[in-house]
Amino acid sequence: MNYHIGTMLIDEHFNASGECPLCKIKKTVEVRLTEQYLGEGVMEDNTRKEVNELGFCARHYDLLFSFPSKLGLALQISTRLKTVMKSVEKPEKAKQAKKIADKLDLSAKKCVVCKYLDDHMIRYYKTVAEVYYSKPSFRKRFAEERGFCLEHFAALNRYSDCAHSEQKSYLNDLYAVENRYLSALEKDLLSFCDHHDYRRRDLPLTEGERDCLKTARSAFYGSKR
Ligand SMILES: [Zn+2]
Ligand SMILES: [Zn+2]
Repeated sequence: MNYHIGTMLIDEHFNASGECPLCKIKKTVEVRLTEQYLGEGVMEDNTRKEVNELGFCARHYDLLFSFPSKLGLALQISTRLKTVMKSVEKPEKAKQAKKIADKLDLSAKKCVVCKYLDDHMIRYYKTVAEVYYSKPSFRKRFAEERGFCLEHFAALNRYSDCAHSEQKSYLNDLYAVENRYLSALEKDLLSFCDHHDYRRRDLPLTEGERDCLKTARSAFYGSKR
């Protein structure tokens, strides 16, 4: 399960719309990757082997379920269930019960879509830095972004060496964007709290103040699906 990573999504989603651009890229990639499990490749040997082994997390099961092909999902899940049933054993001794629990807990943490999604996103974090390095016109757009969620701010920092000789300037811009974003959020949150004082109750709220808890949600946890 794979598809080509280009710079098209980066070009499309770094558009200062307000939402974290990496969250928008992630949502698009996630849908594309997930859809593949319901398409023609559904019963290819390699795909089936991986689905059997890793299964899907709840988030990706729900996403698969949101697509029209219920047959595709039923086929995937029925082969996965065969593997899971091997772990549902009757313990002969009490000691074995813990082993069964450990095995099931470990298997519940795995997901084939998450695995590929993580790989793809790492390539996007690196490519954003590379585009910053190779396309001067992108630098201005990057610096004009509203902000990144904390997960993606961290990831862009982690792979900043892909901006090569522009790494320092890339990190400066990244920090400036995030600092502006979080400082504005902090200010809006304080004003929002102040507003609950009866003496200020009648003053109108700005848009930022009104939406500050939603913005905080996006900053801390990324944007919702
Ligand atoms: Zn994000
Ligand atoms: Zn998953």
